[in-house]
Amino acid sequence: MPNLKNPSPPADGYRGRFAPSPTGPLHAGSLVAALGSWLDARKNHGKWLLRMEDLDAPRCISGADQEILRQLLACGLTWDEEPTWQSQHQGRYKKALERLNQLQIIYPCTCSRQDIANTLETRGVMTPRNQEMVYPGTCRPHPISAFDEVERLATEVAWRLALPPGLTIHFEDLALGQQTQDLNREVGDFVLHRRDGIFTYQLAVVVDDAEQKITHIVRGADLLNNTARQIYLQKTLGYETPSYLHLPLVLDEHGEKLSKQTLASAIRTENAQQALQELRKAARHLGLRDLPDGKETSIAQWLLAATQAWDRKITSS
Ligand code: GLU
Ligand code: ZN
Repeated sequence: MPNLKNPSPPADGYRGRFAPSPTGPLHAGSLVAALGSWLDARKNHGKWLLRMEDLDAPRCISGADQEILRQLLACGLTWDEEPTWQSQHQGRYKKALERLNQLQIIYPCTCSRQDIANTLETRGVMTPRNQEMVYPGTCRPHPISAFDEVERLATEVAWRLALPPGLTIHFEDLALGQQTQDLNREVGDFVLHRRDGIFTYQLAVVVDDAEQKITHIVRGADLLNNTARQIYLQKTLGYETPSYLHLPLVLDEHGEKLSKQTLASAIRTENAQQALQELRKAARHLGLRDLPDGKETSIAQWLLAATQAWDRKITSS
């Protein structure tokens, strides 16, 4: 009788991924996530997959996906299976949403951001700047029943996941150690499908990581706060939970996360010397020291040395 509590690792072993949003070319911050996840996969003799998270069409920039592929190749960060685009997998997300509907744990919400802010204000709840508002549950029916055809009803409403009370998620980050989040207090019923008809990152990332049998998620620490939500969704949908490792963020001179919103500039990869320069910067950020720095070092040699030197723990020290 197999032990169901401790399933053996999947037969094909480690499967990692890099999942950029094609809202612009790679910048120093996204290269750190690419390099960290690539090194962790290579060190563990695993596969490294590439997934374009292009569901939020209004934020995507045409051609950015191709530019990201070119930049990765210029840096020698090669992938092992055909890259995928989330925009081509709408059916998967729809199915997952329908499944949650059958479980009677989603409901439509018509609140605008301003409505939510007003409700929170009347309840005396202050949301710190840069933090998401915790949804106060205004539209949540008691009890929730299954809605027929979520898709047909999905105009002008957002679909939210109803969290059970007392939902605290614990997980171990491979670099940062034990993490805990009280989802009701810190997040609230979160959106899976937006009013404008777009499936959210939270739902899509969980469905695709399961679909692609990802075993290890290595990504920037800006996403740490999303992990508990994703683990809860995995459990609800009956998926396995992968291992997580969050990498230190690259901050600009104002202490803000580098992002396309803060107009972070693209990494330079016109020639091998430039690409190697960018890789060296990203590696220093990951805590890797003493890598070959001679002019005659090739990208392939350098990546081999970096893979040998890669150590999950040093990324957090
Ligand atoms: N697409 C997300 C981003 O670029 C990353 C998703 C993930 O790694 O989970 O921020
Ligand atoms: Zn609402």
